[in-house]
Amino acid sequence: MIPQANPGAGYRALKAEIDEAVARVLSSGWYILGNELRAFEAEFAAWIGVSSVIGCGNGTDAIALALRGLGIGSGSTVVTVSHTAVATVAAIEMTGATPLLVDIDPVHYTMDPEALRRALEQPLPGLPKIQAVVVVHLYGQPVDLARIVPLCREHGVLLIEDCAQAHGARLQGKRVGTFGDAATFSFYPTKNLGAFGDGGAVAVSDPAVAQRIAALRQYGWHKHYISDEVGMNSRLDEVQAAILRVKLAHLDRHNARRQQIATAYTTVLENGPLRPPGQRGDADHVYHLYVTRSRGRDRAQAALKQQGIGTGIHYPAPVHRQPAYAGRVALGPGGCLETELAATEILSLPLYPELTDAEVETVCGALKSLFRHD
Ligand SMILES: *Cc1c(COP(=O)(O)O)cnc(C)c1O
Repeated sequence: MIPQANPGAGYRALKAEIDEAVARVLSSGWYILGNELRAFEAEFAAWIGVSSVIGCGNGTDAIALALRGLGIGSGSTVVTVSHTAVATVAAIEMTGATPLLVDIDPVHYTMDPEALRRALEQPLPGLPKIQAVVVVHLYGQPVDLARIVPLCREHGVLLIEDCAQAHGARLQGKRVGTFGDAATFSFYPTKNLGAFGDGGAVAVSDPAVAQRIAALRQYGWHKHYISDEVGMNSRLDEVQAAILRVKLAHLDRHNARRQQIATAYTTVLENGPLRPPGQRGDADHVYHLYVTRSRGRDRAQAALKQQGIGTGIHYPAPVHRQPAYAGRVALGPGGCLETELAATEILSLPLYPELTDAEVETVCGALKSLFRHD
């Protein structure tokens, strides 16, 4: 069986280096907010091209911390998409803000700038003022920021980039995470940069915002034991930070391998029954997921499973169709029709850097067999 994702293979490939890093932390006697985290924060900030990174407990908290650090909470509406990990919307509500969900473009699966423009120009009666937009660089593909950044500026709203699936992706040569007022990352084990537990981070370039977020992640302490404001407890521990330092050194190579596998799949899928993902011309897609599309999605998934190929659906239900949100969460003008259609047609193929050439060949062979049945 070839799984869709395989974080255990990621450990085995770097076992000696990771074991050494973990042992170093365990022997050090210092487990929270120490030298490993400080070093990782500095290394990751330099790698992205921002002045500060603040580690935190997970990618959901990172979004909530970024919003709170920028002054967003109750009394604010935050625009995002419904075609995302539910975490994006959960984090907005954690701050007390009101989410407003807009549609995606059906080729890249990221926020449709036209849908955002309509939401900004036609505010819904009864909703607080729109004060921020959270874009999601979904599947490793950068959002159309060339159109979204000017819209945010024009309307005076903050821009937060959810980079949980796009560590290292580039737009016009610049890494994602450098375009907005803050950017957030998750280090969940299957992400392009994955820990072996939970982890997250916020990237910012304004030192005052960085300082506030660093306080918010630890009870709102600017000074030990004194809370200047109500914070939370969301820290990236020393063991995970040391592991992430090891993995960061391999990330460019791992992203290149993901791209190589994606190219192999796309070559096979040209003119086939599963449509390959669209790729933005000015972008460097880092393929957190390789998402195909077809009307016969369920049949294709079953046929691949029979041949030992694991697949996934990211995500089977748009946020506004999930029981916790349905009928309650606000949708932008025009609704989310492309989002609803995509959820019924998308299918994620196996993709992780440790897939061998032989395994990629096996997946390609199974994909070719789908053509014969159609
Ligand atoms: C994984 C993910 C998150 C949440 O990260 P956690 O570390 O699981 O809290 C947020 N947004 C997106 C787009 C994600 O893929």
